[in-house]
Amino acid sequence: MELDSLYQEVILDHYRTPHHKGLTSESDIQVHHNNPSCGDEVTLNLSMRDGKIVDISWDGVGCSISIASASVMSDLLIGKSYDQANVILQAFVELMQSKGKSTGDEVLLEDGVAFAGVSKFPARIKCALLGWMAFKDAAAQVME
Ligand code: ZN
Repeated sequence: MELDSLYQEVILDHYRTPHHKGLTSESDIQVHHNNPSCGDEVTLNLSMRDGKIVDISWDGVGCSISIASASVMSDLLIGKSYDQANVILQAFVELMQSKGKSTGDEVLLEDGVAFAGVSKFPARIKCALLGWMAFKDAAAQVME
């Protein structure tokens, strides 16, 4: 798979030095998601207060895209309101569904736009979405 080299570098940086990796001892909820087609696994801890995402920590094994995407997701969503987080989540999902036609909203997605090229590779989209879907699941359960 070929990605723009600058974007590839962003993904590799997050893969080599993932942010917020390592589970905190306390959280409101913990979820575990996996992506059997690639062998990626992620466990995510989420803490929320008053409708705001106070903390996300996660641990996982998997390919560079799944790890880097979980790192970017946690960077983007910590400190956001549940509503803001959903806007960002939706923008990332739409980017992944764009089949390579979208470059993504850099204001909203920051390093997340580095994954734009992944949308051309259907087999890898689940890798990029794994951490995000874990967050979505966890947040929905906390908000219930
Ligand atoms: Zn993967």
